[in-house]
Amino acid sequence: MSKIYVTGLGPGAADQMTVQAQKVLEQCPVIIGYTVYIDLIRGQYPDKIFLSTPMRKEADRCRLAFEEAEKGQDVAMVCSGDAGIYGMAGLICEIGKDYPDVGIEIVPGITAASGGAAVLGAPLMHDFAVISLSDLLTPWEKIESRLRAAAESDFVICLYNPSSRKRADYLAKACDIILESRGAETVCGTVRNIGREGESYEILPLGRLRDTQVDMFTTVFIGNSNTMELNGRMVTPRGYKDV
Ligand code: SAH
Repeated sequence: MSKIYVTGLGPGAADQMTVQAQKVLEQCPVIIGYTVYIDLIRGQYPDKIFLSTPMRKEADRCRLAFEEAEKGQDVAMVCSGDAGIYGMAGLICEIGKDYPDVGIEIVPGITAASGGAAVLGAPLMHDFAVISLSDLLTPWEKIESRLRAAAESDFVICLYNPSSRKRADYLAKACDIILESRGAETVCGTVRNIGREGESYEILPLGRLRDTQVDMFTTVFIGNSNTMELNGRMVTPRGYKDV
């Protein structure tokens, strides 16, 4: 039985990829993904068949993967970060019910939250909530209520998809909701292009984050009430005594 390996590539190009993911890419003759990710790895695997569909054609991309696998060859369906965190793993499982003769294996990767946290210091040392600000598939009211609940419960909050051309003011709207229950001095961080060329980061207070423009290649971290800036690092204390 041929298989689809839904594979997280990690946030960057190569060195933050797991050994398991590398093996999958070496072994699968067909690699399918969103154009941007395909371009990141194409050079390393010149002998593969690369197939892609544009963004927002996710279901077509999944069906393409199953059609290729039905020809009797293993397929790597690649996503950035972790395949199971705002990736393709769920949709492959859902569409997979129509293709009982194709196996599915999920290969995890380093997600933007852990890749970005390592750049900033140690912001995720305590309970945290990951929230995507994309309202393409989730109504904005639901995103707002999750932001409010996470902020009120003093979770560290990690925001994916914080902005796009059509959603330029979403980060400001999200910060306004968080500011209802958290101080403007709360330590926050942004990390852009994690593990990629041009990686950059900033540590700044929530009040200033509100007026910052970020893009879709950025992950945003909002500290809890104990998060500190220590020697240029964003650190959420775990709570150990005697330090
Ligand atoms: N499956 C991916 C997330 C896809 S959603 C993962 O596990 O990381 C896309 C969002 O993830 C982006 O808008 C951004 O907020 C974040 N992201 C993914 N890769 C990133 C990178 N290299 N640098 C910064 N943010 C990244």
